Amino acid sequence: MNLKIFQIGTPVLRQKARPLTMEEIISPEIQQLIELMRDTMRDAPGVGLAAPQIGVGVQLVMIEDLAAYQARLTPEQLKERERVPLPFHILINPSITIENNGEVEFYEGCLSISGLIGQIKRAKSVSVKALNEKGESLEIHATGWYARILQHEIDHLQGILCVDRMKISSLTTLENYQRYIL
Ligand code: ZN
Repeated sequence: MNLKIFQIGTPVLRQKARPLTMEEIISPEIQQLIELMRDTMRDAPGVGLAAPQIGVGVQLVMIEDLAAYQARLTPEQLKERERVPLPFHILINPSITIENNGEVEFYEGCLSISGLIGQIKRAKSVSVKALNEKGESLEIHATGWYARILQHEIDHLQGILCVDRMKISSLTTLENYQRYIL
């Protein structure tokens, strides 16, 4: 079953999400939410989904970048983006630190800004501390496209959308992006 992905302009996308308690993380409700969100993200498809996007204001995001999603890009494009497949994983109550402030600029979209894409500068590498779906602590050091996805998804928990960071003159429809840019 798929959940509705809320679009830009829905207030929950602009609110700060609240952290989950350990009790909540292991509860059947949150475990079921995770399953539903995973199905929704895969069906979209997307490389990440944050709970506020399906209308739940809690600090939970998921990431999965499958090789199949990357097939449209050339090996050169994958290399310049430093984009490699990422297995499905969950981050709860994440805190992010910019590790390398050298910025890289690429086109980026969002499931909550359907059909549009634009250029966004992001830090090249970050570290993230979070809990997984079992409530276990984890720490990630990420660079390239993974670092970009982490910045995008964790922004959602602060009520920040990628258009806030976008070079607005680069905004284009996905259709025109594929026609003229990619
Ligand atoms: Zn998004």
